Amino acid sequence: MNNKYHIKAALIDMDGVLYDSMPNHARAWMGVMRHAGIKARPEEFFLNEGCTGAWMIDHKIREAFGRPATDDEKVELYALKKKFFVEQPPVMVMPGAQQMICELQRHGIVTVLVTGSGQNSLLDRLESDYPGAFPPERRVTSASVTHGKPHPEPYLRGLELAGVRADEAIGIDNAPLGVRSAHAAGVFTVGVVTGPVPSTELAAGGADIVYNSMMECAENISQLLER
Ligand code: MG
Repeated sequence: MNNKYHIKAALIDMDGVLYDSMPNHARAWMGVMRHAGIKARPEEFFLNEGCTGAWMIDHKIREAFGRPATDDEKVELYALKKKFFVEQPPVMVMPGAQQMICELQRHGIVTVLVTGSGQNSLLDRLESDYPGAFPPERRVTSASVTHGKPHPEPYLRGLELAGVRADEAIGIDNAPLGVRSAHAAGVFTVGVVTGPVPSTELAAGGADIVYNSMMECAENISQLLER
């Protein structure tokens, strides 16, 4: 694997990029909100994708009841969200994502996971779905950071794990908060539309380029590295 490119590393989000998991997350959140007696629309969970579970619970409780969530509520409702998530239909690998990872590996680009998730049901599948791409020492998860996306910390931590500077990396994310995090960390930011969030939201968040599917991203990634 010989890397002739200036770009040395790709920092890659998980939900909605590597896995077509966002519809399941939205359905699980809708179940939590029903349980808590809070009105919600599925789109809210797509738009706020990348925030921590605790933030989402606090945000919805403030909106509905005009007070912050208690620590117990954050723990209890997030546990419920994880439970509802695993009860959903199986999550599929995002079409195009494996091709994209293969292209990156073929070019000797170091791949690092940068997710706000702590969902073990997906993290535990990474090695079989994306062999060699995301060993434990190249994963930023909810457990690795103090501040979730859109704070730059997750992508900055990703740069550290890759051992490269910001101008030697690209970030790949499907959500407005994720794109803002990558942009704020100073990496060339690739936005990918894989759900109901429009490309304009990703461009507004600071994406340097937006693809309309992971397949399109996979087909163009070599060309992007050569730029
Ligand atoms: Mg995502």
